[in-house]
Amino acid sequence: MIHRNNRHTSLTFLFAAALSALASPSYAAPVISRLTPPSNPLVDGAATLARFLPSQRFDLQATVAPDAGANIVSFSFAVDGMTLNPTVGTTAIVTSGLNSRLSDGSATPANTAVVSLRGYSNAKAGMHSLTVTAVQSDGQRVTRSGNFEVVGITKQGKVAKNIILLLGDGMGAAHRTAARIMVKGYAQGKAQGRLAMDTFPYTGMVMTSSLNSIVTDSAPGMANYVNGNKANNNEEGVFPDDTVDTFDNPRIEYLSEYLHRLKGKSLGIVTTADVFDATPAANAVHTSNRGNGTGIVDQYLDDRSLTGLKVLMGGGRKWFIPNSSDKTSPQALNGSQRRASTDYVLPADIVAGWGAAPGAKDPGRDLIADFTNAGYAYVSDRASMDAAGTADKLLGLFSYSNMNVAFDKINKRRGNSTIVDEFGFPDQPMLDEMADKALKVLARNNRNGFYLMIEGASIDKQAHLMDTDRWIEETIEFDRAVKVAQDFATAHPDTLVIVAADHECAGAAIIGAAAAVMPPYPSTATVATYEAARFPHYTIVGDGYPQTTDVPGRMLIGYGANADRYETWLSNDQPTQDSQQPFIGTPPLSAHPRSPALRNVSNGFLITGQVPGQQAVHTASDVPLSAFGRGASLFTGVFDNTDVFFKIGQIVLGGVK
Ligand SMILES: [Zn+2]
Repeated sequence: MIHRNNRHTSLTFLFAAALSALASPSYAAPVISRLTPPSNPLVDGAATLARFLPSQRFDLQATVAPDAGANIVSFSFAVDGMTLNPTVGTTAIVTSGLNSRLSDGSATPANTAVVSLRGYSNAKAGMHSLTVTAVQSDGQRVTRSGNFEVVGITKQGKVAKNIILLLGDGMGAAHRTAARIMVKGYAQGKAQGRLAMDTFPYTGMVMTSSLNSIVTDSAPGMANYVNGNKANNNEEGVFPDDTVDTFDNPRIEYLSEYLHRLKGKSLGIVTTADVFDATPAANAVHTSNRGNGTGIVDQYLDDRSLTGLKVLMGGGRKWFIPNSSDKTSPQALNGSQRRASTDYVLPADIVAGWGAAPGAKDPGRDLIADFTNAGYAYVSDRASMDAAGTADKLLGLFSYSNMNVAFDKINKRRGNSTIVDEFGFPDQPMLDEMADKALKVLARNNRNGFYLMIEGASIDKQAHLMDTDRWIEETIEFDRAVKVAQDFATAHPDTLVIVAADHECAGAAIIGAAAAVMPPYPSTATVATYEAARFPHYTIVGDGYPQTTDVPGRMLIGYGANADRYETWLSNDQPTQDSQQPFIGTPPLSAHPRSPALRNVSNGFLITGQVPGQQAVHTASDVPLSAFGRGASLFTGVFDNTDVFFKIGQIVLGGVK
């Protein structure tokens, strides 16, 4: 037996290697270039990389390159030295459709095999060793070892039945502070009120990095919270692999799937984004490409028996409308963006290992009809959402792609703006209204409880665009949804409410206020710093939002992760273009400014950025997390985003003293 990549070089290894060299001077051994789940046995004292709750399911996988002219004929996985006996159909050797390069950048040798055992789980708490052994056609064997940990649960008190996770996308400390300053006001150094999330009794700081970067995107940023493991950027619910297929990656069971399988809990997903977007999808869908919209929305329905999906609300109707011609360009006239190229078909071993639906490339699918045939009530605007009184399963799709933001929805309700009409969706609900509806539906059959994710998506999207007033009002809208969840938990004390962010966006900072008495403010000379900033004052009207954000002495925001922009220090009448809208190329949407560098060119001044591209970017800064209700006391200190999953597991399965 040849041991490769082992931490300790053994005498056995040296002896065997010497014998091999004698027997065949040009002899190369098969190489295992990847073992999944990833582990870090080479780092002494480092935290275990892969951790799971007891009986949480995940896939085992290895990439094996055979000698030239040989191929891999069999393999086995062993845990703690015991060879696993897989269930029929849950293993596979794949040699086609591989990436041209392996994870270390070297070219993929001919006949390289990806070997998998799907849907493994382990109930025993503690560290476990994992070993894969592969045999090539001449009988030569290769092994590689790693490890993973099963995090134990202590039975110790009252458990939480319901979990509500409110995810303010991109919401760093500055976003929270700016919303508080605007909506509550400050005087003589003290805030005149508190955001709902400020009133949560426990707050900690979260480290947000992904498996392959200090700076995460929203896919692992969400998934890390709800399956306990680090993922690569752009990947959700999976570990990285060496195949081209973006739906065949090694899976990790989500909180939703785990709690539905073990406890019969339901899943609710509510977002202001397109429902295919990374944050909502990273609660229920497994793919290494967050952009695969057609397959992602299909999986919501197809795998509802795995996730327990009861409520799905947000934007994204473009993925649900049949596209009979599968046009790639121009846009299908009905707004459909369903494509075979972004759809999914699963390999047989995932279907067998997980009980997942096989999927189909079906751009012509009428997914709204399939949802309603499966018993979901379908609502398309605020009025129909409010009228759906007795539904026990609900699909709400309120726009083609991402919903309009609070700034524009509120101004429409006040009769001040027709921006939402330009998008074709004049009656979109606010996030707090969606949250209230979702909780009513989920509570209706609440014997087993539920997990509900509520996302304020455009805190991030508008921070990327450095549209200050839009992301601050988006944070205010998000906090109103926090209040809805907090009220639910007050009435149902067996509920845990967490307010978190997947990452910070844009390096936002409150740099002061406008110095001049009235706008316009055409240069940096008008940024009043320190005591000159005083205390900006906004008038908050009955709907809970400022009458206007363009007040004298208004709060000013700088961006540490900025691209070029023209700044006026005033609100923008029009939103900046969202490339995901299907009709972005034609009027009236095409008339909106295309980027921050093409916005306010005539009346603003240029602030040059330090990142490439058209938008501000995410940062690696820690983000605040606040908790309320059953088990909230566990969320203090500085912890990793994956730790949140195990805290929730303890609170739901073991309880808190
Ligand atoms: Zn995000």
